[in-house]
Amino acid sequence: MRLIRISSEDNVAIAVSAIEKGSRVEGFDLTVLSDVPQGHKVALADMKKGEKVIRYGVELGTVNRDVLKGEWINEKMIDLPMSPPLSSLRPGGKGVVYQNPPARKTFLGYDNGEGRYAGTRNILGIATTVQCTAGVLRIAAEKIKKEILPKYPNVDGVSALIHPYGCGVAINATDAYIPIRSISNLIHHPNFGGELMVVGLGCEKLTFDRVLSPEEINDDNVLVLQKCHGFSDMVAQICRMAERKLQRLNERKRTELPLSKLIVGTQCGGSDAFSGISSNPSIGRAFDMLAANGATVMFSEVTEVRDGVHFLAERCSSEEVVEKLRKEIGWYDEYLAKGGADRSANPTPGNKAGGLSNIVEKAMGSIAKSGKSPIVEVIGPGELPTKHGLIFAATPASDIVCGPTQLASGITLQIFSTGRGTPYSLSEIPVMKISTHTELYDMWPDLFDIDAGGIVTGEKSIDDVGLELYNMILDVASGKQSRAESLGLYNDLVIDNPAPIT
Ligand code: CA
Repeated sequence: MRLIRISSEDNVAIAVSAIEKGSRVEGFDLTVLSDVPQGHKVALADMKKGEKVIRYGVELGTVNRDVLKGEWINEKMIDLPMSPPLSSLRPGGKGVVYQNPPARKTFLGYDNGEGRYAGTRNILGIATTVQCTAGVLRIAAEKIKKEILPKYPNVDGVSALIHPYGCGVAINATDAYIPIRSISNLIHHPNFGGELMVVGLGCEKLTFDRVLSPEEINDDNVLVLQKCHGFSDMVAQICRMAERKLQRLNERKRTELPLSKLIVGTQCGGSDAFSGISSNPSIGRAFDMLAANGATVMFSEVTEVRDGVHFLAERCSSEEVVEKLRKEIGWYDEYLAKGGADRSANPTPGNKAGGLSNIVEKAMGSIAKSGKSPIVEVIGPGELPTKHGLIFAATPASDIVCGPTQLASGITLQIFSTGRGTPYSLSEIPVMKISTHTELYDMWPDLFDIDAGGIVTGEKSIDDVGLELYNMILDVASGKQSRAESLGLYNDLVIDNPAPIT
């Protein structure tokens, strides 16, 4: 029988498993006064009506009646705090740089030169300006993998960057910059080593000049299918172009690099009551260590952090960063409002049954992935960061959109936290999976890279799993395969397109 308290200021703790009325919890010197379901909150002290309920060190709301030490606090007993308007957001100097980070401060990566992030993989990325080419690209990429790639052992793989954008879209619409910027940044991703390869159809709206610089548009880098003589010529020309690129990529070697050359992202999907207790804070701890050692780490998922955005603002390193946070979150608020989307449906009944009382508590569980470091920059969807340290990238929370959007922002490795389980991955970078509890890890042992369940059972601390994850991130960044990579699992590149389709 155990309770977990996240932060020393918390006046509630979470039941690891269902607790019966009358049970003694020694560590907290209390007797539980009512039956408490798994994942739910128990009062650690008497509270007067109107007193704040503190979890994750933040206010979830106030109790609407007196509560006794040992009582179950459910969602009906907490009144929500007012959600602060974006105009009230202020930097608060609350970001904390992690002290005494691990001594391991390098990784083996593919250097891309001064001022650029290094690759964690050496991949030929075959991009396109339009979905119309997808069938040809897929067949050509398979042929290259089978017949040409084996000749170039230093190249890890071939990825066809097939996406749904490019034509039949309002290319000059206000928000079209988001998919266009994303595709341009995907083409130039650090894992492709500067070997640009873009296949167009010939009549699409997304012309080469929208995603490549004038110097980059030449016969070495671009190919137009409408200039080819039939299907077999298309495939043959793509293969010839690929071989030229593979020869150059094959010359690349891993070298020991500082962590300032590493950029890692995180997201969660299929969350459960333990996400905010075990896996997400472990990611946060590993991210704090990485950031303290000079790496760039990125978290996202606007709709999942929206109700904790004032806590993000307090960790922003300057008023300028807060201003960008207001702008990006404000954009998202309007985008949701335009579609009549309502976030009052959050948390879901399943979240509540799992112990998440309200949207603040859910948001804090998601934000736990970001650790405690100062937020040095806020970027829009598919935008490139310009600073090193903790970055908030304002992307949708949808797994299948957040992944490619962070990829467009240049991440070369992603940590994916899940409590329900999802086989999500990408082919362009390693995606590492962390389970929130051991039952899930044991159910999918060949899909998970690491289990945070030891924190739930009390066998491990957040520091233990955080350090384990830190080392594993550097191992995988240096070439060790993630589970998803070794299985060849990857999802489609669903890039974020808020602009109209015509
Ligand atoms: Ca997600």
